[in-house]
Amino acid sequence: MDGELVSTRDVEGKRISYTDALLQGLAPDGGLYVPTQYPQLSLDELVALKGIPYTDLAFVVKKKFTGSTIPDAELQRLIRSAYTPEKFDDTDGNIVPVIPIGNNLYVQNLSLGPTAAFKDMALQLLGQEMNYVLSRRDLLLLLLGATSGDTGSSAEAAFKGLDRVKLFMLSPYGKMSPFQTAQMGVLSGGNIYNISVDGVFDDCQDLVKELKKDPEFAGLGAVNSINWGRISSQVPYFVSGYLQAAKNIGDEVDFVVPTGNFGNVLSGYIAKQMGVPIGRLIVATNENNVLEKLINTGVYEFTKAVKTSSFSMDISKASNYERPAFDIFGRDPKILKEYMSVFEKTGRVDFKDFGMGPEVFPALGFYAGSSTHKDRVATIKKVYADAQLLIDTHTADAVTVAKRFGAREGVPLVSMATAMPVKVEDAIREAIGSVPERQERFKGLEKRVVEDSFYRIPASQELLKAYIRQNS
Ligand SMILES: *Cc1c(COP(=O)(O)O)cnc(C)c1O
Repeated sequence: MDGELVSTRDVEGKRISYTDALLQGLAPDGGLYVPTQYPQLSLDELVALKGIPYTDLAFVVKKKFTGSTIPDAELQRLIRSAYTPEKFDDTDGNIVPVIPIGNNLYVQNLSLGPTAAFKDMALQLLGQEMNYVLSRRDLLLLLLGATSGDTGSSAEAAFKGLDRVKLFMLSPYGKMSPFQTAQMGVLSGGNIYNISVDGVFDDCQDLVKELKKDPEFAGLGAVNSINWGRISSQVPYFVSGYLQAAKNIGDEVDFVVPTGNFGNVLSGYIAKQMGVPIGRLIVATNENNVLEKLINTGVYEFTKAVKTSSFSMDISKASNYERPAFDIFGRDPKILKEYMSVFEKTGRVDFKDFGMGPEVFPALGFYAGSSTHKDRVATIKKVYADAQLLIDTHTADAVTVAKRFGAREGVPLVSMATAMPVKVEDAIREAIGSVPERQERFKGLEKRVVEDSFYRIPASQELLKAYIRQNS
C-alpha cells in the first residue's frame, strides 16, 4: 500500500499506515516513522502547482503521503478547515508569501497563523487529521503536552473545539511571557485544559514522562514535533516557497531554516528527496549550536541548553535528526540503533567511529551556521532599514546565517520566517527603539484573559492524575 511507514529502529521493518502513525507519534521501539520510500513530485507536476491556492497545492503534496488512507474529498475538506482565511492572515490568497530583501535573498513568512508562529502550519492540519481518524474509528483521545510557551498556544489553537480530543497542557507558572500566557489563557475552556505547574519547563516535561509510565495513563497521546503527520504537513510550504522563488521551474533554490528540533528543515529535506530542485538546506541555530557543530564536524554532542532571545530554538538535542541519520546509514536500523545508543549512553557520538565524516551532510544538501543575540539585534535593525521588513529573533538567526553564506550566483536564498515580531517585543525594542504594531487580533490580548484560565498545582503526580481523571 502507498504511504506506508517504517520505524527507524525496527530491524524487522514492520510497515504501518499513515493514519496509524498519525495517532502513534513515536514508534513503540523508540524510533521515528519514515516513509518506506520518498514519494516523487515531477517537474510537470511542479509546473501545474505554480500559482494555485495554497490549500490546493497542499492537497496534491499531502496526498502523496496519506495515500489511500484518507479519501480525496475528506483530505481536501481537512486542509480547507486547517487553513481558513479567518485563521491565517491571508495576503492575496497566499498564506506563505516569499518576500525579497535584496542581494537575491528572500524571506518566506510561515507565521501568519492564529498564534503567529510557524508551528500553526503543521498543527492546524494535524488537529484536523487526528480528529477525522478518531471519529472514523469512534475513539476519543486525551492529549498531554508540556510547553515553555510557543507550542502550547499553537497546539491549543489547533485542537480547540475538536470533538474527539481533550488537550491537557502543562506550563511552568510565572515563566512564560505575559503575551504567551495570554495566548494560552484565552484558549482555555471546552476541550482545552491549562495546567500551571510550580516549577520550570523541565518539571512539566518530567511530569508528562512519569505519568505515561502509569498503565492508567499510558494511552495518553502527544503532539510533539516527531509526529509524522506534523512533518509531512510542512512539506507543502517548501514546495510553495520553491515555486515562488524559482525564476524557471527546474532551477535550484536554497533555503536557510531556523532550527531547534530539526522538524522544519527535515520537511525541506523531504521536499528535496521528492525531487523539488532544492540545492542547499542551511541549518541556522542560535547560541545552542549542537546542530551547527554536528553538521560541520560530524560530532553530535549533548550540551545543556541556555536561554536565548530566540527561545523556541533553545534545545540540547534534536529529536528529528534521527530521520536523516537513518538515510545516512543506508536505512539500516541496526547501525542507526547503535549510533543512537552511543549518543543516549554517553551524550556524544562521532561519525568517525562509523567510518564516515562530516561530508555526509553536504552530500545530502545540509550546511549550517549560528548566530548570537548581538547578531540577531543587528540583523533585525538592518533588514528593517534596508527592506522595511520587521523580522523576529528566530527569523533573524536565519537571515544572519543567510547573509554570511550569501546567495550563490543566480540561485535565490530563502530564509524561513518562523514567528511574528509581536512574539519578541523586547528584542524588537532593543533593535529599533519601539515595539512592533500588533495586528488587530492581538491588540489588548492580555486583557481578554478570564480568571481561572490556568489550574495551578505543585509539581505533583498525584494532583495531576486527579485533575485529569476528574476531567476525562
Ligand atoms: C519551534 C520553532 C522553531 C524550531 O523549529 P524545529 O522544527 O524545532 O526545528 C523555530 N522558530 C520558531 C518561532 C519556533 O516556534
